[in-house]
Amino acid sequence: MESVRLNNFTITLEKQFPKDIIKASFPLRYGKHSVIRTPEYEFLFNLNGEIKFIRGLNLKSWPHLTEQLKRTGGNDWVFYSVGDDSSDKGVINWMGEYYLPCLPYPSNSVWEISYFSNPNAMNALAALSQLYANLFGVCKDGLSPALRGFIDLVVDNDEGVLHEKSKKLFSIIGGRVSVLPPDTRHVDYEVIPLMIADGCLYNCKFCCVKTGRQFKARLKSDIMEQIKQLKDFYGRNLENYNALFLGNHDTLAAGEELISMAAAESFAAFGFDHSASRVPKLFIFGSVDSLLKSGSGLFEKLNSLPFYTYINIGLESVDAPTLSYIHKPVDTSKVRDAFQKMLDINSAYANIEITANFLLGEPLSTDHYQSLAKLLRDVPADSRSKGVIYLSPLMESPKKRELLPKFLEIKKQSRLPVYIYLIQRL
Ligand code: SF4
Repeated sequence: MESVRLNNFTITLEKQFPKDIIKASFPLRYGKHSVIRTPEYEFLFNLNGEIKFIRGLNLKSWPHLTEQLKRTGGNDWVFYSVGDDSSDKGVINWMGEYYLPCLPYPSNSVWEISYFSNPNAMNALAALSQLYANLFGVCKDGLSPALRGFIDLVVDNDEGVLHEKSKKLFSIIGGRVSVLPPDTRHVDYEVIPLMIADGCLYNCKFCCVKTGRQFKARLKSDIMEQIKQLKDFYGRNLENYNALFLGNHDTLAAGEELISMAAAESFAAFGFDHSASRVPKLFIFGSVDSLLKSGSGLFEKLNSLPFYTYINIGLESVDAPTLSYIHKPVDTSKVRDAFQKMLDINSAYANIEITANFLLGEPLSTDHYQSLAKLLRDVPADSRSKGVIYLSPLMESPKKRELLPKFLEIKKQSRLPVYIYLIQRL
C-alpha cells in the first residue's frame, strides 16, 4: 500500500478495508479503495478511480465523524446521518443500521432531512470539485507510475463523466432501478443489478415504484448480453462487489430456470468466486402469488446456489379493507398463506431468507395495525430464527416522526425483527 504527501493532501493507494461490512457505529468502510486526505476531508475512490465517499474531518464544520456522503452506482449523493439519537433507541433501532440514508429525491422516510440545505454537505461536494482541479494541476514529477496512474484515473472520472457512466448503466439494464430490496442494506446497497423480468403481476394503485407494465420475463439472450456489458462496465471495481440484485419487481415470478441461469452465469462472470470464505448474496423481490406458486423445486435450486439468497415479498396488510383501500388485488387468506410459507421456507432452507413488507401510514386503520401486530405476535417460537419484517411508510403519509410510535408499538409486539423500509433507488 503506497502512500505519498503532495501539497496539502495525502494519497494512499488501494487500501484494503474489511471485505465484508461490519455493522458498527464508526464510518462505514469496506472493500479496496484509495484514500485522499486533506486537513478538512477524507475522499475514498474505488478501483476505477470513481469517488465513493466523502467525510468531513473537522468537527467545527462537520456534524459527526461517523457521518458521510456516499455516491451510489446510480450517481446519487446520499448523506448518511446518525440522527440526533445515537443510542440503541435511535437510528439502529429503526433501520437495523447505524445511519439513516438521507436521499436527494422524494422517498418515504420517517424522518426527512434535506442535505441540500446543509451547508456542510454542500461544502464537501464543493471540496470534491476543488480536488479534481488540484489533481489536474498537480506536478507528477518523481511520482511512481502507480500514483501517476491513479491521479489520471481520478481526473478522468470527474462529475460529468460519472453522470454519463450512470446513464450507461441504466441503458445496459434497460432503465433505472426504482427501488432496491430492503435486505440490500446488509451490503450497503452495493449490488450489481441484472434485469431478468419487467413489470408486476398486480400494478397496485398505492405503489410509487411500479413501471405500470405487465409482468414479462426477459429472453436468455438479453440476460447474457447484460452480463457481458455489466462485466465491462464495472471493470476492475468488480472486485469490490459480492452481491447481485436480480430485478425487477417480481423476479420470483420469472421461475426456477431463468433465476438459476442468471445467478449461475453472474457468479462466474462477475468473479463472485474470488474468495472461498465470503458467501455472495443474491437479492430478489417476489409477490404473494409468485411465492405461493413457487414449488419446492425452485427453493431446492436456490438453496443449492453458491449464494445466500434474500427474497423480499410485499404483503402490505392482513386487513381486507386496507388491501381494498390500497387496491392490492389479493385477499387476506392469500396474504396469511404467504406469510406462513415465508416462515416454513426460512425454517427449511439454510441458504434462503424470505423477508416481508407491510405498510405504515396515517390513512391506515386501527384494524390494519391490530391485525398486523397479532400476526407478528403469534409467530411460533421455532420460526423466529430468520426473516425480517419491514414496515414501509406510504409516500403520502406525513413525514418526520409521527409514524415512529406506531412502528415502535408493532416492533415491541413482534416475535420477528422489525425495521423501517426506506425506498431507495439505484
Ligand atoms: S407493490 Fe409490488 S407488486 Fe404492487 S405495483 Fe408495486 S412493485 Fe408491483
